[in-house]
Amino acid sequence: MANSIRKIGVLTSGGDSPGMNAAIRAIVRTALYYEIEVYGIRRGYQGMIEGDIFRMETTDVANIIGRGGTILKTARSKAFMTDEGRRTAFEQLQKHGIEALVLIGGDGTFRGAVEFFKQYTIPAIGLPGTIDRDLSGTDYTIGFDTAVNTAVEAIDKIRDTAEAHDRLFIVEVMGRDAGYIALNSGIACGAEDILIPELVTHIDQVLKRIDYDERRKKTVHVLVVAEGDDFGGAAELMRLVKERFPGIDTRATILGHIQRGGSPTYADRVLASRLGYAAVNALRAGDTQVMVGIINDKLVYTPFEQVGKENAHISDDLIEMIRVLAV
Ligand code: ATP
Repeated sequence: MANSIRKIGVLTSGGDSPGMNAAIRAIVRTALYYEIEVYGIRRGYQGMIEGDIFRMETTDVANIIGRGGTILKTARSKAFMTDEGRRTAFEQLQKHGIEALVLIGGDGTFRGAVEFFKQYTIPAIGLPGTIDRDLSGTDYTIGFDTAVNTAVEAIDKIRDTAEAHDRLFIVEVMGRDAGYIALNSGIACGAEDILIPELVTHIDQVLKRIDYDERRKKTVHVLVVAEGDDFGGAAELMRLVKERFPGIDTRATILGHIQRGGSPTYADRVLASRLGYAAVNALRAGDTQVMVGIINDKLVYTPFEQVGKENAHISDDLIEMIRVLAV
């Protein structure tokens, strides 16, 4: 089954996510096990263009499985969007004798790969690395579990102080297009309301709910909003709530980049290890231009062109559950 690839390159691209290091470790160690040389490409496609490439040994990935961020660093590259940039990138790969690639990133990274492979032939396998979990072709993405747990920890703390002061808190979590972090952290923290981009926000209902809670003297109200909600983020909501309910002590917190950092959870470490191991084996088996994901605990290979943003299909049942549990 094994083909003759002798040198592979690995990069992380787009937004960073906790668990990327665990994936790099698995890729490097699996490749070296099969006597394949590994080259780390720093700062994603930008580093590929600039030739920021170095040979990796097993010691380069020692003690990184529990570290957040990415030892290869990541970047967004405008130059890679141009023909000239991609040509330079390919020349750099040739210069280093790199015969195949493993790409860790989000849908943009795979769109870039599709453009690249229209012009240049080089086998490549992708790994879903994004905290947003909004990719088709996999149940979970590397970093999502850690980001949700970070949000849960923070919101629990906010609820403590909200309770002590009888305050209403609006907590904004990450998710420009996807509400998975908001939805899951909101459910896990018993939020009174959860606002996500996938559902149209009926602001009158949100205000009605606050009014109802006020009347029956419910003293704590935590509202979780995804940054990309159609009504707006925490700042817009706070302005409106303060205007309508001047008597309620309302505060807003934007969790921001703490959701990207930190030591990955066991779930992200295991996911990243399985996907990294599978990616190298896929290259050895002759697969190419596919992202490896896990669906129902089985490895699934999805062509890059078919990996798109996939948003939650939030069932009515779930919405009803959130409403009932918040009573
Ligand atoms: P995240 O989901 O965390 O944002 P991502 O992989 O989607 O991660 P992007 O910035 O969208 O992040 O994409 C990463 C890089 O892929 C871009 O900076 C760019 O260099 C390259 N890329 C994206 N789309 C294209 C395209 N259509 N053509 C060429 N390159 C592209």
